[in-house]
Amino acid sequence: MTLTLAPALPNATTAPTRRELVGLDPAEIAAALVETGLGDKEARMRAKQLWNWIYVNGITDFMAMTNIAKPMREALADGFAIARPEIVSEQISSDGTRKWLFRFREADRPNASPVDIETVYIPEEDRGTLCVSSQVGCTLTCSFCHTGTQRLVRNLTAGEILAQILAARDRLGDFPGLSRPVDGLVPEGESRAITNIVMMGMGEPLYNYDNVKKALLIASSGDGISLSKRRITLSTSGVVPYIEPAGREIGVSLAISLHAVRNDLRSELVPINKKWPLEELIAACRAYPGLNNARRITFEYVMLKSINDSDSDARELVRLLAGIPAKINLIPFNPWPGSPYECSDWDRIEGFADIVNRAGYASPVRTPRGRDISAACGQLKSETERLSRKQREALEGA
Ligand code: SAH
Ligand code: SF4
Repeated sequence: MTLTLAPALPNATTAPTRRELVGLDPAEIAAALVETGLGDKEARMRAKQLWNWIYVNGITDFMAMTNIAKPMREALADGFAIARPEIVSEQISSDGTRKWLFRFREADRPNASPVDIETVYIPEEDRGTLCVSSQVGCTLTCSFCHTGTQRLVRNLTAGEILAQILAARDRLGDFPGLSRPVDGLVPEGESRAITNIVMMGMGEPLYNYDNVKKALLIASSGDGISLSKRRITLSTSGVVPYIEPAGREIGVSLAISLHAVRNDLRSELVPINKKWPLEELIAACRAYPGLNNARRITFEYVMLKSINDSDSDARELVRLLAGIPAKINLIPFNPWPGSPYECSDWDRIEGFADIVNRAGYASPVRTPRGRDISAACGQLKSETERLSRKQREALEGA
């Protein structure tokens, strides 16, 4: 069943000139409070309370912050905002996958154009994964990826990256006092529907490094959303100079969109390979901080019929990754309108997986999720470009 909800929730957070709190770390919140006239000590105390209301309790209304005196709540509501995006649509796949189209307006810059981005929730038996976007569109042009056909509109702010998590937690009943939309969302032994985050939505996270770093450090902060870094995965197409800093400064799990084992083919599929070829990418992986057998790099490999799916590709893949603590994820290609490839046949995927398995890698074939609502890997593409293309055409026709 696919359900599309009409635009429903009012956007209560767009009053002009209010400073956005989501995306600020506690020291920055305290500094913002000092600017409003609070003393240092009180500002630090209030910042702690605000942090707890925002990230632990999911509160967006200052008036609900009962441990803060009423006049101060009113002053906070005048000067600050706690963002949630407008929910343009929420689609629910027959397999339970949910896709939201979120519209962001910046509280700090009320005159900037709003942007639309997609966020996907994938429920599985043992985990619930939220697939988060880092950019509106992408500067890269991987030939098998729908997002890659969309030009980059802009980077998302740290607050907008976090707001995707907060809004998804609202909708899934992951904050105290909220009800769950359906039974059985919380995996056994867990307390929340969202147990894992993957930076695998729209955009290249390492091309928006500072905002992604800030958002993920806040998401993994022990006294906030408190997701373990092991349960957060950052996926990159191979922005080599940022791989080592990502490991050292963010410390989350790493996934590499590999997809080919020869430079000529990889440059065709993942054009950033022309800038940082396989040798450099693999060397950066070997040097990834904190890498060991308990903490492996995931290599993503999209299965494209007669392009990268031969036995010799599989054998070369095994050779290439020799000595790197690695997991290999084989992803059946998800087609999109006009896509130039087909997905490999099932027995070809099995043949490829056999070779990889025999070399000692667990190589789960990732079951496509949410295909009926275009929520699967590489199918995300936002309204923002469609709108701007229309606008462009209107301009061209004028
Ligand atoms: N830009 C980052 C993260 C977003 S893409 C990156 O490229 O890693 C998330 C994953 O989906 C990547 O592994 C990407 O290669 C894969 N992907 C993109 N289009 C796909 C498609 N049509 N079918 C299957 N996987 C796809
Ligand atoms: Fe951008 Fe990743 Fe898509 Fe490549 S696969 S175009 S890097 S989103």
